[in-house]
Amino acid sequence: KKRIFSGVQPTGVITLGNYIGAFRQFVEVQDEYDSIFCIVDQHAITMPQDPKELHENIRKLAATYLAAGIDPNKSTLFIQSEVPAHAQAGWMLQCIASIGELERMTQFKDKSSKENVSVSAGLLTYPPLMAGDILLYNTHLVPVGDDQKQHIELTRDLAERFNKRFGKTFVVPDIQLPKNGARIKSLQDPTKKMSKSDANAKATIRILDEPKQIEKKIKSAVTDSEGVVRFDVENKPGVSNLLIIESSLTGKTVDEVVAKYEGKGYGDFKAGVAEAVINHLAPIQARYKELIDSPELDHILDEGRDKANAIASATIDRMEAAMGLGRKV
Ligand code: ATP
Ligand code: MG
Repeated sequence: KKRIFSGVQPTGVITLGNYIGAFRQFVEVQDEYDSIFCIVDQHAITMPQDPKELHENIRKLAATYLAAGIDPNKSTLFIQSEVPAHAQAGWMLQCIASIGELERMTQFKDKSSKENVSVSAGLLTYPPLMAGDILLYNTHLVPVGDDQKQHIELTRDLAERFNKRFGKTFVVPDIQLPKNGARIKSLQDPTKKMSKSDANAKATIRILDEPKQIEKKIKSAVTDSEGVVRFDVENKPGVSNLLIIESSLTGKTVDEVVAKYEGKGYGDFKAGVAEAVINHLAPIQARYKELIDSPELDHILDEGRDKANAIASATIDRMEAAMGLGRKV
């Protein structure tokens, strides 16, 4: 079986963007691939985090993975900081990455240009840590939204560079982009992607939002003044985003969704999109509530950590031996 690795940051309750762009693909791939899912808390601290909140978000994210359909009998789910190999691999890969290539990462440029935020060195060196996450598990495929494409390309470059310099050590992974709804947009600024760290609460739908909140947020989503429901990303980014949301959650094509609202105004349209979102999330929210305070959740995370650790520490041994570190040969 080919292996898939994917990481998500515990930086807030996951959004509909994360769900459509990432979580749903995870659930689909777990039968076909040997799947490893990681809660990347060490990535989260590249930006300032409140420790208590981070701690809670880690557990919430774990419960969300499982509620969304990750099956611990098929997949491995674990927390990055509980497997020391990640920081070790991150360091070795930082030493073969150049500052210039890290400065060219658009996510670094975006996040470091935010006002009133101190830019940590970790924000710059985050991509080699991410490369380590992936390469430690001999990963073949990385399923991500297209905001992560550049980081996966860097991962491939670092893997190839390491193999060339120190001998074949890594599998060079491929990226797998979702077929549909690759990038869900912010409800308040549909030219920007929906992000779980967005400070504007109205911009994102959270997977744990109450039906009332979902209705309210979709009702106040930014659209346009044309008043006609049609798909046109360039001129009608807000309406098009809502169409993509309903289409991806119902399995209908965008054309079918457009046809559903023919002759109707934005009021009916938004109510329909909200209904689709609420119905889709209801069973996920119910399962989440069962899991969040359960010992079952800890048991799954303990097992995941042990499985991940066994694979990752073997890769560290090979990396250190290849680079000439310590006394390994
Ligand atoms: P942050 O603002 O903290 O970076 P995020 O919402 O971008 O949060 P990540 O943890 O960076 O979330 O990414 C988790 C996964 O969700 C990744 O696979 C990423 O590609 C995907 N993803 C993130 N935002 C979207 C989006 N708007 N549409 C589709 N997929 C997304
Ligand atoms: Mg992100």
